Amino acid sequence: MKDTSVSDTDLLRRPTSLGNEVYEALYAQLMSLKIPPGGRISVDSLVRSLGVSQTPIREALSRLEAQGLVIKTHLVGYRAAEQMDRMQLEQLYELRLLLEPFAAGRMAARRDAGMVAELKALDAEMRSEDKIHSRTSYGEFAKRDAAFHNFIARSCGNQLVFDSLQRVHTHVHLFRLYFHARATTDANREHEEMIGAIEDGDCAGAEDAMKRHIERSKMRFMSAFEDS
Ligand SMILES: [Zn+2]
Repeated sequence: MKDTSVSDTDLLRRPTSLGNEVYEALYAQLMSLKIPPGGRISVDSLVRSLGVSQTPIREALSRLEAQGLVIKTHLVGYRAAEQMDRMQLEQLYELRLLLEPFAAGRMAARRDAGMVAELKALDAEMRSEDKIHSRTSYGEFAKRDAAFHNFIARSCGNQLVFDSLQRVHTHVHLFRLYFHARATTDANREHEEMIGAIEDGDCAGAEDAMKRHIERSKMRFMSAFEDS
């Protein structure tokens, strides 16, 4: 009997969705440190362990490379990015403190109800990810926190501010650095304050709320260096 469940469009879409699945699997392993920082990633052994061809694997690896999670070296291959050191963390937060409060203030000044609604929708998605117990769901929370902060940066009206923040891949690096179960509930509360000020068109309030959120976030992630 002919299998009619697979249509032509399914066949056309297949490589991309397979690439997606490989991407999600590798993302989870990188965020949970199952693939250790600096660890070599061999395309051949992924072909064997995941049972897929090289194409979706290379597709996934170049997405992860663009996110700063994977490093490609010519003639050597792929490896997982190192975790941030203390100085890189300090510098990341300096940059965030310069740009993100500005972005939140600008977004508040726009008083755009449609944008506020979208921001609230992102926040709601994050709450559904609350109650983080495993490193895998922690990786998902990182994605949603990134989407929330990226949206504010994109909505500030300054493309250069958005581009600069995009380039540092804040969230994957922070969340890979330190597993902190309470970070998520605290962050949700801080986001709520910020959304309130943005919705009220309170520029100074939105700037302050973002500044406080980033300062607290820094304290949470600095714990990664406390025992060393
Ligand atoms: Zn946040």
